[in-house]
Amino acid sequence: MSRIASFSPQIDAIVVGAGFSGLYAIYRLRELGLDVRGFEAGNGVGGTWYWNRYLGARTDSEGYVYHYWFSDELLAEWDWSERFPGQAETERYLNHVADRFELRRHIAFNTRINAAHYDADRAVWRVTTASGETVTARFLVMCTGGLSAPTFPNIPGRDAFRGESYHTGQWPHAPVEFHGKRVGVIGTAATGIQVIQSIAAQVASLTVFQRTANYTIPMRNPRLDDAERARLRAHYPEWRHRVHDTFAGFHFDQMPQAFNDLDADERMRILENLWADGSLKLWIGSFREMFADASVNQVFSDFVRAKIRARVHDPRIAEKLLPKDHGFGTRRVPLETNYYEAFNRSNVELVDVRAEPIERITPSGLNTSAREYPLDMLVYATGFTAATGALSEVDVRGRGGVSLGEAWNHDVRTCLGMQVHGYPNLFMTMGPLSPAAAFCNVPTCIQQQVDWIRDAIAHVRARGCTVMEATAEAEAQWVEHADSLANMTLVPKTQSWYMSGKANGKPRLLPYAGGVNGYKRECDAAKARGYDGFAIR
Ligand code: NAP
Repeated sequence: MSRIASFSPQIDAIVVGAGFSGLYAIYRLRELGLDVRGFEAGNGVGGTWYWNRYLGARTDSEGYVYHYWFSDELLAEWDWSERFPGQAETERYLNHVADRFELRRHIAFNTRINAAHYDADRAVWRVTTASGETVTARFLVMCTGGLSAPTFPNIPGRDAFRGESYHTGQWPHAPVEFHGKRVGVIGTAATGIQVIQSIAAQVASLTVFQRTANYTIPMRNPRLDDAERARLRAHYPEWRHRVHDTFAGFHFDQMPQAFNDLDADERMRILENLWADGSLKLWIGSFREMFADASVNQVFSDFVRAKIRARVHDPRIAEKLLPKDHGFGTRRVPLETNYYEAFNRSNVELVDVRAEPIERITPSGLNTSAREYPLDMLVYATGFTAATGALSEVDVRGRGGVSLGEAWNHDVRTCLGMQVHGYPNLFMTMGPLSPAAAFCNVPTCIQQQVDWIRDAIAHVRARGCTVMEATAEAEAQWVEHADSLANMTLVPKTQSWYMSGKANGKPRLLPYAGGVNGYKRECDAAKARGYDGFAIR
């Protein structure tokens, strides 16, 4: 039987994706009394935490702010076992939420959406699944994730490899056996680091193919006992508001002091304290000048490089592991656990693919310009087409049949990161030019965006209208505002997925750089002005 046969032919709202934001969107839109249907390509809920089940996957946000705040009962009944929960626990949490709030019955699983076309005459979205079924809905809310369209490196011979190969973002559900195998990992950013540190001691040999070394911070990840959990829970009434009023959506914020007002001893004392916290504080909860002032950034960069150097026995390997082509924090700073110690092991080899470029993947391994590396398994920790990827993979066509993917290929434009001119009633979470695209403790931003979308839809309906669309002028203002904030930082000077947006074909910073708090103020103001940047009819 058709998976979606039980859906009425026209429903109020479609939510695509059943991760953190999709589940919450279903919950909030249902609350409005809408007939809401969810579509999920996977066989279960969880989104990122469903797909990225590689060994070592874990959040770099403290669990006690990496969750939903909408239900006191949920907050009271859920216990995080560690400060930074792993993939399995986070996936369990999202399953618990889906069951607890009876969200599953709204969702068609194993159902990938291939196309979403706007029918301007009827003011509905016609959504087509991979198996060819079609549903129409007034509102379309794309909760497809900012990091969910995996990218593979463009290396000749990839399909010829006869060993096992996995992308971390499409990890199998069945256990993967590493013991006794010669494993190669391509990619040494947040994901690659987690894989490498987790498998180094299990494999026969590990060859790490590194293009760019990254700055990292050692994670301090104690298990939480009942007393600690009670202590943390006592902060919840404060944190549920505070997370929206900080630069990055955490319970901590950037420091009020100016770095340049402090003497050298005081600076070092503070940096050491932030380092010892074992969290992302050193990056997004420290001095704001670090993002904008090259001389301050240099101090941070030198500080972290010295920490890395001290942990690697062989100075030549240490040298390769030191980031030298960008400043601290201008790319995502991953937390790590014994990552550098992995390179002190005799079964681990680091290959600098800038010095020794990868030329070809062969049936039995990988060839660089220098030599052949025989491998039984190849792990691609090569990332995603960020923010735009998942939406571009769906054939989204707005008024006049204009393709969103094609438009974004040249110029990534949004209004408040949630709507695009020319795509009426299409809303998105984690979209380009919103902090959720990167500089954010993601659940904070997701909840704020879904709440804004719910309020916007409620407003449209309360006015007896059917359509909401960002105006071209409001979108232009938002793009200009986001670009001007980006250009006040050092981030656009560094190449990373943060810069994978397009501005007339040139790189554009994808995330909004004005902070979670600054972004929320903009969103709240738009709402308070009666959504004046949006045509409602
Ligand atoms: P990523 O940051 O895009 O890193 C991809 C890695 O693959 C980089 O090291 C990149 O090198 C390398 N790479 C790509 N193509 C290559 C090629 N042809 N040859 C050699 N190397 C190549 O992807 P990611 O590590 O999956 O992380 C993406 C984001 O997911 C993170 O920034 C973070 O926001 C999120 N994440 C979070 C966590 C967490 O919270 N703990 C964990 C994992 C991921 P270059 O740097 O030279 O491009």
